[in-house]
Amino acid sequence: MNYCPHCATPMVKRNSGGRERASCPQRQCGFVHWDNPVPVVGGIVEWNNQIVLVRNVGWPTSWYGLVTGFLEAGEMPEEAILREVKEEIGLDATLESHVGMYEFYRKNQLLIIYHLRAHSGDVVVQADEIADYKWVAVEKVQPWTAGTGRALQDWLRSRGLEREMLDFSEANN
Ligand SMILES: [Zn+2]
Repeated sequence: MNYCPHCATPMVKRNSGGRERASCPQRQCGFVHWDNPVPVVGGIVEWNNQIVLVRNVGWPTSWYGLVTGFLEAGEMPEEAILREVKEEIGLDATLESHVGMYEFYRKNQLLIIYHLRAHSGDVVVQADEIADYKWVAVEKVQPWTAGTGRALQDWLRSRGLEREMLDFSEANN
């Protein structure tokens, strides 16, 4: 952040709350860019002993991951993941469990991951967000080296399936 979003003054680095942060030097303004992590929901969506992996628009063709999305204002994570699954892949689903919370420091996100059971396998993708999808047997799915992959690894472990995390591009081949 180079300019203050309130008064357009060039930002400077200043210590606030024990860390250097981009801060507005105007005393009347005093805006601090706290850069707090953004919550993101993700879903391990299961149907017929398979889980669905999606390739987001703009990703390399070998990358597939979990359905993810941002919370809307006034929405709880449990509602957000059900809405995202419906919007992105057209499936109604039932929430089964909260798998856990995972870091995604690179994008400054906190991942909140759920296991859901889809009511059918009839995926209809939202084409402006999802380029492709695939169903992968639970016995075969391979977790990848990212926050969502760690969640998948933990979920598989909870079913007695011990899996190494592979490099993201390899995992999805
Ligand atoms: Zn300012």
